[in-house]
Amino acid sequence: MKLTKSLFMTGLKCDKLLWININKKEILPEQSLESKHNTEQGTKVGILATKTFPDGINLNGLGYRDNLIKTKEAIEQRKPIFEAGIEIEDCFARVDILNPANEDEWDIIEVKSGTKVEPHHIPDVAFQKQIVTKAGLKIRDCYLMHINNKYIKEGDINYNDLFAIENINEKVNQFLPQVEGEIARQLDVTKLGSMPKTVICEDCNKPYTCDFKKDCWSILPEENVTQIYYNKKLGFELLEQGITQIKDIPDGTPLKYRPAQQAIQIKCAKENIIHLDKEKVNEFLDTLEYPICYFDFETYAPAVPIYDGMNAYQRIPFQYSLHIEKDDDSVEHKSFLAKDSNDPRLDLLKQLVDDLGTDGSIVVYHKSFEIGVLNELAKAYPEFEEQVQSIIERIIDLEEPFAKFHYYNPRQNGSASIKYVLPALTDISYEGMGIGNGIEAYVNFARVTYNEATQKEKEQVWEDLEKYCAQDTWAEVEIIRKLAKLSNSPIELINNILPEKFQNPSVEQIEKFNSLIFFDFEKPTDEEIEERNAYATQFIKDSKRDLEDVKLQYDNKRFHSSSYYLQQAVEKITKAYGVIFFNLSKKYVENKMSHKTPKAFIKAVREPYMQELVALFKTAEPNLKTDVTELERTINEKETELAQTNREVIEKFLQLIDTLTIKLEEQNIPGLVKGLLHQLKEGIGEYDESFDWEKLTRVFDEKFKVELLMSFISLYLLSGITYGHVSNTRYSGQDIQPEDYKEGLGIVDCTPQIIPHVQKAIDALECFMK
Ligand code: SF4
Repeated sequence: MKLTKSLFMTGLKCDKLLWININKKEILPEQSLESKHNTEQGTKVGILATKTFPDGINLNGLGYRDNLIKTKEAIEQRKPIFEAGIEIEDCFARVDILNPANEDEWDIIEVKSGTKVEPHHIPDVAFQKQIVTKAGLKIRDCYLMHINNKYIKEGDINYNDLFAIENINEKVNQFLPQVEGEIARQLDVTKLGSMPKTVICEDCNKPYTCDFKKDCWSILPEENVTQIYYNKKLGFELLEQGITQIKDIPDGTPLKYRPAQQAIQIKCAKENIIHLDKEKVNEFLDTLEYPICYFDFETYAPAVPIYDGMNAYQRIPFQYSLHIEKDDDSVEHKSFLAKDSNDPRLDLLKQLVDDLGTDGSIVVYHKSFEIGVLNELAKAYPEFEEQVQSIIERIIDLEEPFAKFHYYNPRQNGSASIKYVLPALTDISYEGMGIGNGIEAYVNFARVTYNEATQKEKEQVWEDLEKYCAQDTWAEVEIIRKLAKLSNSPIELINNILPEKFQNPSVEQIEKFNSLIFFDFEKPTDEEIEERNAYATQFIKDSKRDLEDVKLQYDNKRFHSSSYYLQQAVEKITKAYGVIFFNLSKKYVENKMSHKTPKAFIKAVREPYMQELVALFKTAEPNLKTDVTELERTINEKETELAQTNREVIEKFLQLIDTLTIKLEEQNIPGLVKGLLHQLKEGIGEYDESFDWEKLTRVFDEKFKVELLMSFISLYLLSGITYGHVSNTRYSGQDIQPEDYKEGLGIVDCTPQIIPHVQKAIDALECFMK
């Protein structure tokens, strides 16, 4: 094994990555499409650079041995050598261009496809200088040859103008004294018997994102401190202090760069909430004017300009998608896609001006990109200058409410990019699409447009591109709709959130809702209500007392007792909910349900009157399982297995409760119910003039809280987690013995986390019954 310059650069970045490249290459993930494309682009640029040395000897493509032999021969000829291979002891370097200078000296020329000298180029060239010098060649100067982004193509490419060359000898000499020691250190690392341990840090992203990042960074929890908005530095400082989660950031930690947004992000993580500034979101929405044009460009920026009048890395807009929404809610789709290798810009611009018309807002995501491309088009075709400028004036950036955190959902992971906003707000996914991101779009476009490709391949790529770009602008439509839904009045909430069948309720449905709203399914008499309330109140009292015992026993490490009382506390409060909300009779509670508390929910979910509420939950969480047949079977047959549920699974359940809480808050359930009441009032007209709607609305203002709804779901899950402990905790001779209740058993480990959920359920019901 020889240390090459690319391994040397890898070793400068990270010992672990170097070690893997030498000793365990097979675990390296496949190179990303972007990185493959960049490598290809770099190779292409390297080949073009050789054209500036017409009498050079090209050793590119030769294997290691042949390369060394041919390099020696070429050195004798004193001609420029491309890919000259030089080795000393444990090191080997290929020099992009070794150029003869003076009588017996040489210059090292490193070719890069970028447009300037970057700091990481210096050690790269210093390594080459060290090897070449040690091999006995005299080096006069070191250069970096890069793309000249001022060069504008007119006719055939002028390679001497396409490249710029900078003398970096001084900087290289400054780094040179470190090279020998660093090589020795790295060689030691490669010989280690096991993978060295490294600490993740900002360097993992520099100068490019490490291929191994997904693996190394997976140790971080969700919502971790490296995701703090615009303040990675703070994130890594906190990591060094052992703080990994945003919710654990100490109050008073100084915030900077975007402190207001960071404060919202931290608050959301600590309180497990979604932030929505309705006023600001509405201000943003109010700026939109019909027809609203949702717009997106796809571009390709080649290192070497393809068309006349363009400079290196200038963007070629080859596609756009446009969804036009009119004030009658109709949406029309238009698009442009270049399908040959001719310059697409003029055709695109003409159609664009036509498609966008002169009225309404143009919504884009991250406007500096679209505005930049439009300005480049206006510069190339000055006759369109005025129209382009008026298009730019109509642009509204959909990123703004997210960049300013008028809306923030912890699922965005501290990012306002559409990649993170979209899954937080909508169900739109790019998974499984032939082309699923901007990089795949331009790489595939370039592949079938500027290279050999069959008609079939081209058609597949065109179809995939159309689908992908259309999805991008449809995503903008959906985001706006979701924002409107979240920030508008309850009536709009109803129309947008409720399943269609509830939007214009029949009299029959109204009656059902009526009873549902009153939790009064069987129309009990006052006496029956009183009796029911007294029965439930007794359960609440018992549950509170049991919960106190849980804490006492747990503190004394009497875990079989704390687990028993935990089951009892859950059982009793669940029964109270069942009596109040599911109208469970005393007979059912005592005879059928007993300690199998999940049965309360099974019965309830099966009741026809519950279907509306179940549907309501489903709008909040489509994955919520409401088919309870399987659950019933599990409850009857797997009591012991359930009792052995491990900590990981229980924590997942508890996490699900938190996630659902966020979702329900996001759906604004209390607002939804109030809106529904209003709609019922409007819809039924003379159905019940005597109804005291104001009072009813007030009831919901005060009592219909997310906590209450969440307690249903929370108890549904907790009853499953705890009911299996009623016998095992008290009787020997069972599959789990009372003495088996110790640390390591899921229920024991998670008791401190479960207690607050039970307490919340008790508090919510008490508040409701007051
Ligand atoms: S992600 Fe960071 S720590 Fe992991 S191998 Fe890459 S550079 Fe090293």
